[in-house]
Amino acid sequence: ELEGRVAIVTGSTSGIGLGVAEALAARGAAVVLNGFGDAAAVEDTTRRISDAHAVPVRYDGADMSDPAQIEALVERTRRAFGPTDILVNNAGIQHVAPIEEFPPEKWDAITAINLSAAFHATRAALGAMKERGWGRIVNVASAHGLIASPFKSAYVAAKHGVIGLTKVTALEAAEHGVTCNAVCPGYVWTPLVAGQVAAQARAHGLSEKEVIRTVFLAEQPTRRFATIEEIAATVAFLCSDGAASITGVALPVDGGWTAH
Ligand code: NAD
Repeated sequence: ELEGRVAIVTGSTSGIGLGVAEALAARGAAVVLNGFGDAAAVEDTTRRISDAHAVPVRYDGADMSDPAQIEALVERTRRAFGPTDILVNNAGIQHVAPIEEFPPEKWDAITAINLSAAFHATRAALGAMKERGWGRIVNVASAHGLIASPFKSAYVAAKHGVIGLTKVTALEAAEHGVTCNAVCPGYVWTPLVAGQVAAQARAHGLSEKEVIRTVFLAEQPTRRFATIEEIAATVAFLCSDGAASITGVALPVDGGWTAH
């Protein structure tokens, strides 16, 4: 149902972004992968997705903390595949520390990658979507875009900001066949969360299993991690024609966490 569409998924060499890229390719979109990673592994992934779904797939290593590289990513995509129809702003990083100890450079990096990158990519891609009367922008925010936890000042601020940007983009694009929505995952088992689990286990002198049960899944009423496939299916739905009247929402995919 996305045949002929061109999709950019930022931060798609790993985790949720990779799952989203696969889901869009499976529905027929040409996909641009982005993110960091070992060159051979990235090449393997690119070929694997392209072969599995018979769609063009290319990799672009733009650093999402750099506005000029983000603009170049959109321009290179246009030259290779044509104008961007689907933009999934997914790249993100985390750092956990009390505010007094939070390194200012981590604040800057998190707000650049988790928030400003979505603005720069939207700024570069939106004009062509509006001109052609169809577009989908999905911002991967977080349950932490809706509620807070201690020690995640930069992340929570950036994700709340992304939801604000989502609403503004939705309003500006609404008459042009372009939707913009945020998806708000709860905890999903990816390298980003595995890193936090390991760090908390060290900090509290607990086993990783105990940390998962008492800290992470204690928040999530389903008592299990959401899966990458569940997040990817939600993003793919928001990109479909059936979702044309859904715009400006922040959709939790969090096993009930934000229903508390
Ligand atoms: P991940 O660490 O598995 O993947 C992050 C991706 O972003 C990787 O491909 C990485 O290379 C890329 N990336 C990081 N810095 C980059 C940069 N400067 N330029 C380009 N790419 C960069 O993490 P994930 O868990 O899949 O997270 C993906 C998104 O989902 C993030 O925005 C994260 O905040 C959000 N999220 C994750 C969870 C979760 O539980 N895993 C929950 C809510 C929201």
